[in-house]
Amino acid sequence: MSACRRLLHLVKHRSLLTHVRKHLTTWSPVGAAFNARPHRKLDLFEKNVGLFGVPELNCPAGFQVATENALKNTERLVEKACSWSPGVQTVQCFDQLSDELCKVADLADFIKVAHPDPSFREAAEKTCIEIGTVVEKLNTNVELCKSLKNLLDNPDIVAQLDPDTKRVAELFMFDFEISGIHLDDKLRKEAVGLHVKLLDLNNEFLVGSHMPNRIAKSAIPEHLHLHYAAEGSFIQIGGMHADSPSDLVREIAYRVYLYPNAELMGCLEELLKCRYKLATLVGYESYGHRALKGTMAKTPETVMSFLQLLTDKLSDRYGLQCFSQKKNVPELMPWDHPYLSGVLRAERYNIEPSLYSPYLSLGSCMEGLNNLFCQLYGVSLMSEHPRAGEVWSKDVRKLAVVHETEGLLGYIYCDFFHRQDKPHQDCHFTIRGGRQCQETGQYQLPVVVLMLSLPEPTKGAPTLLTPGMMENLFHEMGHAMHSMLGRTRYQHVTGTRCATDFAEVPSILMEYFATDYRVISQFARHYETGQPLPESMVARLCESKKVCGAADTQLQIFYAVLDQIYHSKPQNRSTTEILKDMQQKFYGLPYTPNTAWQLRFSHLIGYGAKYYSYLMSRAVASMVWKQCFVADPLNREMGERYRREMLAHGGAKEPMLMVEGMLQRRPTVEEFVEALVSELNPHFETFIMDSES
Ligand SMILES: [Zn+2]
Repeated sequence: MSACRRLLHLVKHRSLLTHVRKHLTTWSPVGAAFNARPHRKLDLFEKNVGLFGVPELNCPAGFQVATENALKNTERLVEKACSWSPGVQTVQCFDQLSDELCKVADLADFIKVAHPDPSFREAAEKTCIEIGTVVEKLNTNVELCKSLKNLLDNPDIVAQLDPDTKRVAELFMFDFEISGIHLDDKLRKEAVGLHVKLLDLNNEFLVGSHMPNRIAKSAIPEHLHLHYAAEGSFIQIGGMHADSPSDLVREIAYRVYLYPNAELMGCLEELLKCRYKLATLVGYESYGHRALKGTMAKTPETVMSFLQLLTDKLSDRYGLQCFSQKKNVPELMPWDHPYLSGVLRAERYNIEPSLYSPYLSLGSCMEGLNNLFCQLYGVSLMSEHPRAGEVWSKDVRKLAVVHETEGLLGYIYCDFFHRQDKPHQDCHFTIRGGRQCQETGQYQLPVVVLMLSLPEPTKGAPTLLTPGMMENLFHEMGHAMHSMLGRTRYQHVTGTRCATDFAEVPSILMEYFATDYRVISQFARHYETGQPLPESMVARLCESKKVCGAADTQLQIFYAVLDQIYHSKPQNRSTTEILKDMQQKFYGLPYTPNTAWQLRFSHLIGYGAKYYSYLMSRAVASMVWKQCFVADPLNREMGERYRREMLAHGGAKEPMLMVEGMLQRRPTVEEFVEALVSELNPHFETFIMDSES
């Protein structure tokens, strides 16, 4: 049945699209493509089409050419924007300008971390720096800013703009604002100075927060040396060793890795001061107030009341008590938490990953995603053979995302397999944003990359995923489909370029699908026997997540609170004193003297004042799941509503309005909290099923 439907799509879409696409493309079913080992027929005469099909990028030197072209076009567009009379065309011009720079910079941003060839990486890095400098300059270009300000200051013209155009104009203005462009000369110079200083401080903190700490070998019992990296007469500790079964190994790692570095401490305190100064200079109460503009939460006050209410609800009922069930733990210490939750989970539910993975071959998971998207949105994932030079590594797969009536929606490049020198992180990259091109009258299709670190298939077996890997795959595909199903007029707000606290809603929602038996049973089959994954195993997996779930959430709340307070008004006490206080209040475990966890909190840079986003996104995803999908996770009508109300808009619509459109009412903070707390309730049928099996 499903094979038949796939074939139909294949035929239909090829005939539908041949008039658009000149070169002949063969699309094949997605599952088979991912279970097979990569094989490329070598054709020495095939023309190198350049990375992502960008012709200049067929060699490292091409990055320079692409950069120069982009900068030339940018200059032309800046002139245009400044000379035109204010109107829709101003915003279109800004978006085109941003597109010119983004499509080179975003691509380079990806290549500089992912390309196996260092000469490509270096060339891409250079491009990033060059374009970054130009963007900084543009953000302080008074003439350019004026052209936008003239538009936004004219109520008659603003009244004529459609909501998307108005929002995008305001978002562009927001970027200018941080350069103090609306201030007088003296203050503007001060703002620019702070901005430049912050770029350096951010960088310094990011680098420092990942540096290992050293301790003399003689300070550590000799029999423990083998657990750490050695460097001459020193031991180097670059992480918390949180999974080590030895209490002592974890404790030493915790104390040494978190030992405060005075210089880095100075950097962080200075950074927070500068952020505050800059935010107030450009007209906000605090850095947090500025950062939260345009988000779902809107203000730091809402964030704090969300976090406080969540804490109250959790400590009412759960808290760290889960660990007291574990015997032989005299006193719970901060370095015990992650390890113990893992042990408790495994003890209570038999969730050994290797029991699951034979049912979760990469091919069947991809087939499962394809089926899910077919049923929810009428969209298929089609495997397409990349052309010569189009991809950076031979194991990268290319997927065409095709709608049953709208045709090709965009491309997802899947860089899924582990490689030497490849960052070990699961990530979604926007390479090119979707946009209505005024120049050509066509829609510029979005292009994204999904990066995972999966083991390669072997001769005997396809790549087999653990349940955790499968959930990550679904999560990242949630981001990718946000990009693909978005049909925004402007690339500035394409797909995932939306409010930070909304951005994880589509990806976390996919995690609910990934743990629902009605979805899993459609694809999870033993790769050798074809047996389906037993329902009781899926139920056990879901229940195991609730073990210590409250404690894990409390830890996240503590981090989010810390981030909020650091970005509020100056506190007249050190970051360590604040941490000590908040750890006690929101987490419940005492502070360990001579440690400074905040110096390892690198998310302070990218997420400044928005670390709460994940919790809030999870709350919304949970509400959407329960209200719209739990009754029937494959319901087309709901899928269409979800696309129409949420995914289609990218960042072009105020996030709370999208939530309202989906839920058909405006949820309260109390409901957000309730959604998160209710997930921790045990599902009694599972216990019964478990005791029966
Ligand atoms: Zn994510």
